[in-house]
Amino acid sequence: MPEAPKNTHKPTTDYNLELKNKKTLQFIEDVTSNADEVQKKVLEEILSRNAHVEYLQTHGLNGHTDRETFKKIMPVITYEDIQPYVDRIANGDTSPILSSHPISEFLTSSGTSGGERKLMPTIEEELGRRSLLYSLLMPVMSQFVPGLDKGKGMYFLFIKSEAKTPSGLVARPVLTSYYKSTHFKDRPYDPYTNYTSPNETILCPDSYQSMYSQIVCGLCQHKEVLRVGAVFASGFIRAVKFLEKHWRFLCNDIRTGTIDSQITDQSVREAVMKILKPDPKLADFIEAECSKDSWQGIITRLWPNTKYVDVIVTGTMSQYIPTLDYYTNGLPLVCTMYASSECYFGVNLNPLCKPSEVSYTLIPTMAYFEFLPVQRNNGVNSSISVPKTLNEKEQQELVDLVDVKLGQEYELVVTTYSGLYRYRVGDVLRVAGFKNNAPQFNFICRKNVVLCIDSDKTDEVELQNAVKNAVNHLLPFDATLAEYTSFADTTTIPGHYVLYWELSLNGTTPIPPSVFEDCCLTIEESLNSVYRQGRVCDKSIGPLEIKIVEPGTFDKLMDYAISLGASINQYKTPRCVKFAPIVELLNSRAVSSYFSPKCPKWFPGHKKWINMN
Ligand code: AMP
Repeated sequence: MPEAPKNTHKPTTDYNLELKNKKTLQFIEDVTSNADEVQKKVLEEILSRNAHVEYLQTHGLNGHTDRETFKKIMPVITYEDIQPYVDRIANGDTSPILSSHPISEFLTSSGTSGGERKLMPTIEEELGRRSLLYSLLMPVMSQFVPGLDKGKGMYFLFIKSEAKTPSGLVARPVLTSYYKSTHFKDRPYDPYTNYTSPNETILCPDSYQSMYSQIVCGLCQHKEVLRVGAVFASGFIRAVKFLEKHWRFLCNDIRTGTIDSQITDQSVREAVMKILKPDPKLADFIEAECSKDSWQGIITRLWPNTKYVDVIVTGTMSQYIPTLDYYTNGLPLVCTMYASSECYFGVNLNPLCKPSEVSYTLIPTMAYFEFLPVQRNNGVNSSISVPKTLNEKEQQELVDLVDVKLGQEYELVVTTYSGLYRYRVGDVLRVAGFKNNAPQFNFICRKNVVLCIDSDKTDEVELQNAVKNAVNHLLPFDATLAEYTSFADTTTIPGHYVLYWELSLNGTTPIPPSVFEDCCLTIEESLNSVYRQGRVCDKSIGPLEIKIVEPGTFDKLMDYAISLGASINQYKTPRCVKFAPIVELLNSRAVSSYFSPKCPKWFPGHKKWINMN
């Protein structure tokens, strides 16, 4: 993820990078050393400025700003608890409901509720807090990789579509909001925010034109590129795949110094034309590399000065590490930060560590953090048990930032400047160590998520409902679904969901392929809007596949799990599989396979707004 500019407007000649880096690192030292005091102050500040908001008054906080009263009185909540308040704001109630500052927009989380993106209220000043977190990244990085100010970053960054709530507030993903803000667009000169992609190419709403133009610009400046990246690993791989498909057009443009006619956005054309000059030598070089049989190391071949790849490969994105290693010849994969629509959380202070060892230091000024201890049910399918609603005793078990214990797992709970109070983010983290008094966390997982390709997050209940809807297509054939499981197949680009189905066939009429294709589509139609947006708009998820497996396959799966130590009594079919030998077992017993024949329906914004705007 790219770093934000500092908010200085110094002339470029007066740019003292060393001093700025030193100050930033000192800031990290200070806030991590005084983590508890900073947290106390953050909570006081949030509660005093919001003392009169309806939500806090309703719960009877009565203007108290101390931790003890806050923890005693305020409930630990999930999105469903604040949804009625959010709906009122979305429908135009401008009274101070959650925050004393006006809600400037909604950030649409990739987490969903009732199949729709969650809406996170935000306030204008949060942009400054996000910028601050970004501004920490490069000073940290420069301690490990010197000279990054001497070249450029090739980052593939994209905006997504936005919608308006009935009251006219914008609702869009947090990064779209950030890239469209003056904090990003009008950033003053900074050698660390010097990207190969002109702003116009990033801000182009058409994903093809945006990708094409960013890659052309990256290729033209290939010798200057010192680092490459995207937000998530999946996005970076998609860019490589795009290059694989379109390199001939790209070479042609570079050879002639003209831009593909499919790039119709005038501002993008103008921005690209400032960079694109006829360069037959470069075109020959790219052509020679791209036409080789193997694409192993293509990143280091085309961008030879690249020192690392800046992408998130923690959490579910770790499934992309082998592909990234292949394309980059094992360049360091650097995960710099941990953030969400609710709040930006923290940074990785040891960015060259192995992906499996990445830990994020939560920055105590960002929000007030609490931690709910999580129990792990050990066994073959070691699942994580987190209660959905908390009783009074459980509410008391939450601990403060400085009180977490090494090795223990916790669910993250935040109180933010923009109106979330003791809100469960849904991420499970493990304490890996400390920076001064501030803990550092491994990202373990997102609660309940079983399938994920890009920013989609599908949980078991959603999957179950989708499958239930699909099997209705089998009824006329007197066939039922005996067992199923699923797998996020990232060996295809883009990745796609695979469902393994074992059927009980009672009828004699064979089931035509079109019926299974209908099943695929029904599942896709039933999944949440983030999944469908990935399929339709971003093309970041491929068509869903159903693989029919031989009768008895799921018994074999159980035998296998038991041979690995699962208890016979407690064995439950996993609704998602990841372990390679199990996937191989399922694939070896697949008798047929079907894909969704078209994209499911998707509209920007919530379903209930569609007829209102
Ligand atoms: P969103 O609200 O759509 O911005 O998604 C935020 C979620 O993305 C977080 O709550 C995490 O589950 C996930 N996420 C963000 N940063 C990271 C990271 N560095 N490693 C793993 N997961 C992450």
